[in-house]
Amino acid sequence: NTAPPPPHVVLVPLMAQGHIIPMLDMARLLAERGTFVTFITTPVNALRIKPIIVRVHESNLPIDFIELPFPCTEAGLPPGCENCDLIPSNDLFPTFFSALQLLAHRLEQRLKDLVPHPTCMINDMFNPWTANVARSLNIRRLVFHGPSCIHIYCSHVFHLHKIYETVTDEFEEIAVPGLTDYDDAGRSFKVCRMHAPGWFNWPGYEKLREEVLHAEEAADGVVINTFDDVEPMFVEAYKKVVGKDVWTVGSLCLYDKDDDFSARIVRGNKAAVDQEKLLCWLDSMEENSVLYVSFGSLIRMNVGQILEIGSGLQASEVPFIWVIKDAEKCPKVEEWLEGFERRMSFRSFVIKGWAPQAVILSHKSVGGFVSHCGWNSTLEAVSNGVPMITWPQFGDQFLNERLVVEFLRIGIAIGVKIPVFNYGEDEIRVRRDDVERTVRSLMNDGEVAEERRIRAREIKEKAIKSMEEGGSSYENITKLVEYMKQEPRKVVQRTKA
Ligand code: UDP
Repeated sequence: NTAPPPPHVVLVPLMAQGHIIPMLDMARLLAERGTFVTFITTPVNALRIKPIIVRVHESNLPIDFIELPFPCTEAGLPPGCENCDLIPSNDLFPTFFSALQLLAHRLEQRLKDLVPHPTCMINDMFNPWTANVARSLNIRRLVFHGPSCIHIYCSHVFHLHKIYETVTDEFEEIAVPGLTDYDDAGRSFKVCRMHAPGWFNWPGYEKLREEVLHAEEAADGVVINTFDDVEPMFVEAYKKVVGKDVWTVGSLCLYDKDDDFSARIVRGNKAAVDQEKLLCWLDSMEENSVLYVSFGSLIRMNVGQILEIGSGLQASEVPFIWVIKDAEKCPKVEEWLEGFERRMSFRSFVIKGWAPQAVILSHKSVGGFVSHCGWNSTLEAVSNGVPMITWPQFGDQFLNERLVVEFLRIGIAIGVKIPVFNYGEDEIRVRRDDVERTVRSLMNDGEVAEERRIRAREIKEKAIKSMEEGGSSYENITKLVEYMKQEPRKVVQRTKA
């Protein structure tokens, strides 16, 4: 009797850093747990993750990378616009999603003759077009959710966007079905239209929304980058209603334990910083004393807002690392930063461009994180026990903020209630006083701040446990690999949930 061939899974991420990075972690994790992996990328994105590709090849992990030519010209995008963070203006986002759909035929052609034949596909929820490819190749398809379960539950399940249409006030709170007993007083979890549906309610995205929902209903199962202890109420509620297998496999960032520091430090982009210098600086700081300020891969702050943040950080008297994207595109910011960095050189480290975030957050000197609450950033903070100042911008981030501030109680809200796109381009959303006040509250030695740090350490321990043998995410990954071993031909593709 010969052993059956290993399962072969095809991973299709959304071409955006916040989606590629956890999928890459998952690729390495599944490969180490006995699966053959094919990872779909495009030429520009492949170049960004090259250190990881090289590392994978060196370590003989069974992962193949397939580069699909990206149809920029056909779709009406500028050449090279292959990642969400390269889209030059917000009105081109729907065009970007249409361009992705054009990859369907190319993907099918590349997969149909692959040996061994894929047994399973895991597609990012934003790639609903993969449903047809999986169906025509007769392979199972699982949806991967990069965002949190709290968001998936409140926006996808029950098609809540329809309920939100019934209220006129953006801030009127609606009790989300199935989420009773949210707080100590036994109240239901409530959300308002301004915060819950994220991109689901944006004009121009109706077609994508319907496709995403339909592809999710038709999928054979769901994989989520979360862990049960970080949002138990939402994971449980989701599992109850979704009617198919759900594997919670996070925090995927904890899997990134590559001993080659240069591959680890990059995590999907070339870091715009001298690693040695940064680590030396961090090593010279006291434990838990440094604040890290960064707003993910997509958010760009206007000039006025950058100056307000800088002034607030300066007034707070706390040492900080501050990540600023596209500073070089604005001479006024560059000029201002020159003076700022000179004034603050004794306690600041400014990174203009891509920061090695995972490394920074895991350093013992880092004791606070001003974050936009993207789910990866949130999980990275949680998994490293770093308390947060929450400044959500759009999408799932307002709900992630509530998880951090109300549920886990490891963060302080900076007080933003309105998504970034509802502001004027040059409008200032947060004043320097609010930056200073929240930074001082988070980083001081008082009892409340200390209790917050203790809770952050407790949830970090739970995050680590969940990824260790016997932990919930570890066991779910075992079950997922077992599931992928099943004979593909026994599988009946769902057409509707
Ligand atoms: N990231 C990073 N350096 C940066 C900006 C982002 O390493 O300068 C990583 C971050 O660690 C996270 C991902 O990019 O893994 C961003 O994902 P998130 O969901 O937090 O936010 P998004 O960029 O999708 O808004």
